[in-house]
Amino acid sequence: MRILISNDDGIYSPGLAALAEVASKFGEVRVVAPDVEQSSMSHAITSSRPLSYRRTVVASFTGRFEAYRVNGTPADCVALGAHNWEKIDVVLSGINLGTNLGSAVWHSGTLAAAKQAALLGLRGIAFSTPVTDSEPDFRAIAPWVERSLTMLLAEKDLPLVNVNVPVKPAGICWTRQSVQHYDGRVVPGTDPMGRAHYWYTVVPITEFEEGTDRWAMEKRLVSVTPLRLDLTDDALLAAGRKHHGCGGDGVVG
Ligand code: MN
Repeated sequence: MRILISNDDGIYSPGLAALAEVASKFGEVRVVAPDVEQSSMSHAITSSRPLSYRRTVVASFTGRFEAYRVNGTPADCVALGAHNWEKIDVVLSGINLGTNLGSAVWHSGTLAAAKQAALLGLRGIAFSTPVTDSEPDFRAIAPWVERSLTMLLAEKDLPLVNVNVPVKPAGICWTRQSVQHYDGRVVPGTDPMGRAHYWYTVVPITEFEEGTDRWAMEKRLVSVTPLRLDLTDDALLAAGRKHHGCGGDGVVG
């Protein structure tokens, strides 16, 4: 099995090396990741300048992995990785330092790398874990990443999956994406020269519904959310077609 690994935290992230190490138990691993952090870049692609693809090394506790760094986004990395390595079976992204739950899926570069794989007709699985007071203990969560991969790779029809691993997992739970709104606040400040600047901070609204990704993480369960590329709201589409129809010269009943 050929496994391409990417992330949005950048080529030097310890989460990337941890994921490569777990993935190497399942097949041949190659890492293609951004040369600098690209968190919150979502699915941006670089279309106004050329990209470089430079050989480097990613080392974990036990192994060294063939790796390339790209001066682009997570989606760029997966596109270049797939171009330069044929017959990839699955693209793994992460392990992100920070969860990607609920509405964070819209901003996440980690998810975008997996989504880029799905857009190319490959499989994509994203992994994220919380950052608390200390760095994540990747040795502790690695067995849960491995268990999740064993389960997910055995399934044939799962193009895109979002996995979040809590600090000390108690089990694995399939979940749906929570759609609670967040508190997106702009915080003004001044730089050392006295010029105005701003931080855009996103704080999730903490209520969560049972069965969602956020709910599972609160219960210390690994959250596994299958996602789809088609964002169409089927109920609204049916209602819109019924009321407004569809035709070449405007509204047809
Ligand atoms: Mn990140």
